[in-house]
Amino acid sequence: MEKVGKLCIVLFVLSLTVSCSVRRDLVLSVDTISTLFATDAKGASSVIMTDDDEMNTLSYKKISEVIKTAGSDGIDEEIPKAIPKEEEIIFSSEPINEATAERMAGRTFFPGKEISLEELRYVLVGYYGFDGDYHQGELIVNKVIADDVIAIFRELYDNKFPIAKMVLASDYESDSHSMKDNNTSGFNYRKIDGTDRLSKHAFGLAVDINPLVNPHVTSSCIHPEEGSRYVNRGLNIPGMVKKYDLCYRLFTSRGFEWGGDWETSKDYQHFEFAGN
Ligand SMILES: [Zn+2]
Repeated sequence: MEKVGKLCIVLFVLSLTVSCSVRRDLVLSVDTISTLFATDAKGASSVIMTDDDEMNTLSYKKISEVIKTAGSDGIDEEIPKAIPKEEEIIFSSEPINEATAERMAGRTFFPGKEISLEELRYVLVGYYGFDGDYHQGELIVNKVIADDVIAIFRELYDNKFPIAKMVLASDYESDSHSMKDNNTSGFNYRKIDGTDRLSKHAFGLAVDINPLVNPHVTSSCIHPEEGSRYVNRGLNIPGMVKKYDLCYRLFTSRGFEWGGDWETSKDYQHFEFAGN
């Protein structure tokens, strides 16, 4: 044991010597790398390996890059998808660019209809996932409500209101698929289910929150069908919107009405802008 102890001290001194002579951003001792490999995915973004402040601020993504630099090949499969650090999450809105327009074309957007791309905004917001991590979300809304939507999601994020997923509805084959996947979304040029009237989503003036656990319940059906398990609103399910909860208060205080308040059907996922 004594010999092993001495050997450790020698190795430690050697690693310090090497550390002082190599670029700091490339330095990773064997111990540090072992620590990294031993860290699970959840804790990875905040893992503390040394008392070096610079290293402590490395995100998991950067850490994995450093490991690659250190020459450890074939470990990609073991590195989970990078989770952005909180300060890397963006809250912003911008006009629809060409790439986004392509994603929407023929799925949620159709040229020559009642809404133009110029009236819409691509919005980035962070959200607190069902997995307990922070994520980057995206949605499209009318430019009239873009700032409100960012402010609402900022509050939801700060208060850890759980949101399952937030990608563009156009990434799905249909609105049903997006709902079934519990995907929170905004703009979608479509009619109200079972009618010929355009939905407020068709103007980017409505947002659906966690649609699987907040289904739209009419006298004849439930959208999405898989949401039938969540028709009982007394359940305590993450991301379920309830009257007077934080989500409800944030939207309604900014001029939105909640589909859960409707008389003829209950659209628990749905908030639509009722202002001008
Ligand atoms: Zn809706």
